[in-house]
Amino acid sequence: MISKTSWIWDERFLDHNTGKVQYIFEGGELVEPCDEFENKHRMTVIKEIIEKSGLAKHLVRQLPYKATDKDLLRVHTKDHIQRVQKACKAGIRKIGPEAYASSETEGIARLSAGAVMKAVDTVMEDEMISKVYAQIRPPGHHASSDQAMGFCFYNNVAVGAAYAIEHCGLKRVVILDWDVHHGNGTQDIFYDRDDVLVISIHEAGYFPLESGQVHEVGQGKGEGYNINIPVPPLTGDEGYRYVFESIIAPVIKQFQPELIIISAGQDANALDPISRLMVTREGFKYMANKIRELAESYCEGRLIIAQEGGYNLAYLPIATMGVIEGLVGVDVNWKDPHVLPKRQTPSALFEAVDDVIKYQKSIWEFTEKETFC
Ligand SMILES: [Zn+2]
Repeated sequence: MISKTSWIWDERFLDHNTGKVQYIFEGGELVEPCDEFENKHRMTVIKEIIEKSGLAKHLVRQLPYKATDKDLLRVHTKDHIQRVQKACKAGIRKIGPEAYASSETEGIARLSAGAVMKAVDTVMEDEMISKVYAQIRPPGHHASSDQAMGFCFYNNVAVGAAYAIEHCGLKRVVILDWDVHHGNGTQDIFYDRDDVLVISIHEAGYFPLESGQVHEVGQGKGEGYNINIPVPPLTGDEGYRYVFESIIAPVIKQFQPELIIISAGQDANALDPISRLMVTREGFKYMANKIRELAESYCEGRLIIAQEGGYNLAYLPIATMGVIEGLVGVDVNWKDPHVLPKRQTPSALFEAVDDVIKYQKSIWEFTEKETFC
């Protein structure tokens, strides 16, 4: 079977403006050190690296469409949609916890959700294309049915999964969220359903705080269909491989999905300013490759990778390049220029300290080593 890969992108995604990071001091003194982490430059650098690395020649360009009220109402309340609309119209910047908007945001958020629906249309109807990379913003996985949060307004992957079930008649969809933050909104939306298996691998004890713990397994009919995999800082490529082999692959095999959607935040990358998970381009390539193989085994290759977070402008496009290489099944002949730290263990630190002591002990006295945690 010939299977091409689609790349969904629209220049209008650049119009959503989140403003600046703001530090407000006593008396209202304001410091704005830089653009908000979720900004349009993230998209520009990803697009540029797709085009200039040669990856674009493996991809079929498609345009998204906007999700309608009916589409959004599959997973969001009417109140939520109206609140987002009103706030954007009034020019209110902060719509929810760490959810920053501009007047254009509501329309662009519909385009972002509609892009995942377009991806569903494509993998269900186009006999030549079974895989999609949707390069979208704003992201969506923190948006619950009734709240905007963490740069997210409408839950793009949830809108897409609900559309696949209600419009296309699918019975089993997997959403795998590898963004470094817990996909709390997606969990909330499908928590009592058994037709959408939600798996989230994220940094333990991070954002949202107290969310994404292992005991959150779903409820009612949905019990067992929500899997949280909180992993410690410095997990790295090898750690992710271990999680894929020991949890994700066997569960997907048993669930037998008809479609796999990835909430693909590359903010687990080794240089990201707001995470510590140390995944490299090779790690992301492995994950996309592995999930493509699973999709080919169980759901005729139907796989949608939808962009979520990722905030280091130098490394986000390289990590995303790894994702697309794995999705398409090609290797770009280009060496990652960054020397990335390897995962270290406490014993490695003990060895490093011992080494220093070995060379210095004739001059200095050292105390007995203490353990640390
Ligand atoms: Zn994230």
